[in-house]
Amino acid sequence: MTFDYDLFVIGGGSGGVRAARVAAQGGARVALAEEDRYGGTCVIRGCVPKKLMVFASEYPTAMAEAQAYGWAVQTGAFDWDRFRKKLHMELDRLEGVYRGVLQTNGVETFDARARLVDPHTVELPDGTRKCAKHILIATGGRPEKPGLPGAEHGITSNDIFHLDSLPKSILIIGGGYIACEFACILNGLGVQVTQYYRGAQILRGFDDEARGLVSDEMIQSGVTLHLGTNILSIEPAPGGYRVKATNGREAVFEKVMFATGRAPNTEDLGLQAAGVAVGRKGEIVVDRYSQTGVPSIYAIGDVTDRVNLTPVAIRDGMAFVETVFKGNPTPVDHVLIPTAIFTQPEMGTVGLSEEEARDREPIEVYATSFRPMKSAFAGCPDRVLMKLIVSQTTRKVLGCHIVAPGAGELIQLAGIAIKMGADKEDFDRTVAVHPTMSEELVTMKTPVRAG
Ligand code: NDP
Repeated sequence: MTFDYDLFVIGGGSGGVRAARVAAQGGARVALAEEDRYGGTCVIRGCVPKKLMVFASEYPTAMAEAQAYGWAVQTGAFDWDRFRKKLHMELDRLEGVYRGVLQTNGVETFDARARLVDPHTVELPDGTRKCAKHILIATGGRPEKPGLPGAEHGITSNDIFHLDSLPKSILIIGGGYIACEFACILNGLGVQVTQYYRGAQILRGFDDEARGLVSDEMIQSGVTLHLGTNILSIEPAPGGYRVKATNGREAVFEKVMFATGRAPNTEDLGLQAAGVAVGRKGEIVVDRYSQTGVPSIYAIGDVTDRVNLTPVAIRDGMAFVETVFKGNPTPVDHVLIPTAIFTQPEMGTVGLSEEEARDREPIEVYATSFRPMKSAFAGCPDRVLMKLIVSQTTRKVLGCHIVAPGAGELIQLAGIAIKMGADKEDFDRTVAVHPTMSEELVTMKTPVRAG
């Protein structure tokens, strides 16, 4: 059988574009189809615009601190319209970069939805069929709303970057990354934020002490957080939407945002026709080489619902190219992935939480929570947390959890040491950088508890 391409990629997000580029650079004939904007969730409606909104939302605190440090500054008003226009210009520029990367490397692109027809063939909306030796599905995911009365009135993270104006009040539902990040962002931008989370504490799955501190700090900075609370229904009301909650509360919010998880984009992709199996959430089932049960079809990134993070999708894409085009079988590596939640303060984390580690082996916990010099001087009550989980048997650092401004930057570096297998004594041998917050990571001498 002769093929039009060596590789056809469906989906032009971070994972798909990286795989297409690297395969093409190695000499493969590659095509990519994207029905929406190039760059996918991360660039167009996720990490990038979110982080720019984080930056925008941090200025009122910085300004208050500046005043405490002796600067005669006034916070003034936030011009959402001006920020939003600039934000979208930046996203347009980045989309251009993504398109440019594909073009420069000779990847043929189709601005269209592609569906599988069989294990080697995709079909475009105009009926054109293209066949490829390998097909890579990298279609990502999308926000999902729960099925409750009036859910259609709620927005999701996809909509937040397109609001005509910032609401006076918003209810955010959920307790994961997206709910907590946007609660902090919008609070920082001056919106009255209420957050309902059905569980006992936000950020389920992360270290208890770390998420407890994030939650305390969010409340202290003005987010009205209702734990053990879910939404029952939404209906339009003067000034916004009336929301009934499981705690009996009824309140009107100008906007309601669902951050209740994401679903893999596998609908109407022709998976069944090609014989590709999906799991309970609709995710594509793959092995550790990202190969589906159909040998010519692979899938990477959020559509596989493994670890839904941009850098993971990118690395999965690179591992796919190594395996399929470079004759070097490379399984995905999902062990010890550092990650950050861009709340205020940020949380950076790598490895096991105290609770997970305790269930596996005897551990020592080294932790310190304190008021950092910068904000303490300004009279702010904020606290930070530096925490290490250490194996009693091997002395290896099993987990590191940081809640502090810049924790995302710090955890990247701690992640290198921990991925290299550093033990507690390696941390102890490292000279502190003084005066910093993170010097505590190398100066904690006595465990606060064993488990
Ligand atoms: P998450 O899965 O992290 O969180 C979903 C939240 O919604 C949970 O708190 C969950 O509660 C709650 N929830 C789910 N269903 C319902 C329901 N029917 N009613 C009420 N609450 C509900 O999803 P996100 O959308 O926040 O983020 C998706 C993924 O995107 C993340 O897991 C992460 O991998 C990635 N991401 C990464 C970021 C980063 O790196 N900084 C930023 C944003 C996203 P419960 O805990 O009880 O299940």
